[in-house]
Amino acid sequence: MDLYRHPVFDMACHQFDLVADHLEIPTAFRDRLKYPKRALTVAIPIHRDDGSAEVFFGYRVQHHLTLGPTKGGVRYHPDVTVGEVAALAMWMSWKCALAGLPYGGAKGGVTCDPRKLSTKELERITRRYTQEIIPFIGPQVDIPAPDMGTNEQTMAWMMDTYSVHTGYSVPGVVTGKPVNLGGSLGRREATGRGVGYLINRSMDVLNMDPTKATAVVQGFGNVGGVTAHSLTRYGIKVTGISDFDGAIFNSKGIDIAALEQHVATTRSVKGFPGAEAISHAELLLLPCDILAPCALERQITADNAPHLKCRILAEGANGPTTPEADVILERRGDVFVIPDILCNAGGVVVSYFEWVQDLQSFFWTESEVTDKLFRILEGAFTQTLNLSRKRAISMRFAALSLGISRVFEAKKQRGLFP
Ligand code: GLU
Repeated sequence: MDLYRHPVFDMACHQFDLVADHLEIPTAFRDRLKYPKRALTVAIPIHRDDGSAEVFFGYRVQHHLTLGPTKGGVRYHPDVTVGEVAALAMWMSWKCALAGLPYGGAKGGVTCDPRKLSTKELERITRRYTQEIIPFIGPQVDIPAPDMGTNEQTMAWMMDTYSVHTGYSVPGVVTGKPVNLGGSLGRREATGRGVGYLINRSMDVLNMDPTKATAVVQGFGNVGGVTAHSLTRYGIKVTGISDFDGAIFNSKGIDIAALEQHVATTRSVKGFPGAEAISHAELLLLPCDILAPCALERQITADNAPHLKCRILAEGANGPTTPEADVILERRGDVFVIPDILCNAGGVVVSYFEWVQDLQSFFWTESEVTDKLFRILEGAFTQTLNLSRKRAISMRFAALSLGISRVFEAKKQRGLFP
C-alpha cells in the first residue's frame, strides 16, 4: 500500500504485524484491521495577509468505523503527510479501544508552519479545511480535536464553520473547544494530567519515591507543559525541559511557573534564566528517574536508546520510540515503558467526556471529569500491566494487544458486509 508510505506509517504497521502474529490474527483480517477505511486529501487555497493567494494541503484519515464514530486530533506542522496522518489515525484506534471508548481512530492534518502564519491566516486555513471536510465529519461520523499546532481557538473556528453550514450550533462536532462553547472542564489539562497520573502509578509499582525522583520532559506544549506541572504536584523534581527551539537543565529543579512566564513573553524555553542551556540530544541522555518525550515521533532511536539513563520512559507523544529502539529497551530490561497509546490517552478520554456532555447538553464539574478520567486510566493501566506480566511481554506489546484484539473481536462480531 504505497499511498501511505512514510517512516511513521511503516512503524505503526510493523508494530501491528508483530502483535497480529502474537495474537494469531488470520491473514484475511489483517489488511482489514491495518489499512484506513477512508482518507481524504483537500487543497486549501487562502489569501495571505499581503493579498497573495497560496494553496495548502490538508488530510483527514478515518482508520476504522467498527465501534462508533471516529475520533482524533488535527495537526498543523510543516512535515504533515497523509502517511503520517494515517499512522496517527491507526494509533488512535488502538488507544480508544484500550481505554474502552466507543470510537474508531482518526487523525487530520494540514501541512503548514503555524508559527509562520498570522492568526487571521490560521483562521482562514482552518475554516477552509473544515469546509472541505464537512461531508466527512459530524458528531456521529468523525469528531476532530486539537493535536500539535492546534488549540481551543482552532476548534472554535471548526465548530463555527460546521455550525454555519448546518444552520444551528453543533458543539459535538469537535472536542477540545473553549469551555464557553461546550468544551469540557479539564480537557485542556487532560493529557498531561493523565501522563502524571500514570507516572505516579508506575512509581508505585516500581517502589520508587516521587519526592526523591527527577524527571526530564521533552516538549513544552500543551502535553509537556501540563505534564511538568503535574509531576511537580506529585513532588517530583523536573530538571530538564526542551521545546522546538532549545533545551534547558537545572539539577536543583526548574521553576515551572517561572518558565511558563518566560515562554509567554519569549515564545520559547531558550534563554530561561533559571537553568543552563544544553543541546536537544543531551536532554534525552540526562540521568533521571523519568524521561517523558512529549513532542514528536521517532525521538528515541537505536542511536540513543542504549544510552538512556532513566528508569521510566513515559510516552506523552505519539510514536516517540522507534521499533529498533524498542528492541534495545527490551533487551536492556531496566527501563519501564508507559507506551503512548496508554500514557497520552487522557486527552481522548476527556474528549469523549466532552462529546457525551455536548450530546446531553449537561455539563460536569472538573472534579467529576478528573475522577472519571483517573478511573479509566487506572483500568487501562492495570489491564496492561497484568497482561504484560502474565504473558511476559512488554508494556507496549500488552497495550497494543488489548487495543487490537478488541477491534478484531468487534469486526468478527459484526461480520463482513455484504
Ligand atoms: N490529539 C490527541 C491524541 O493524539 C487527542 C485526540 C482527541 O482528543 O480526540 O490523542
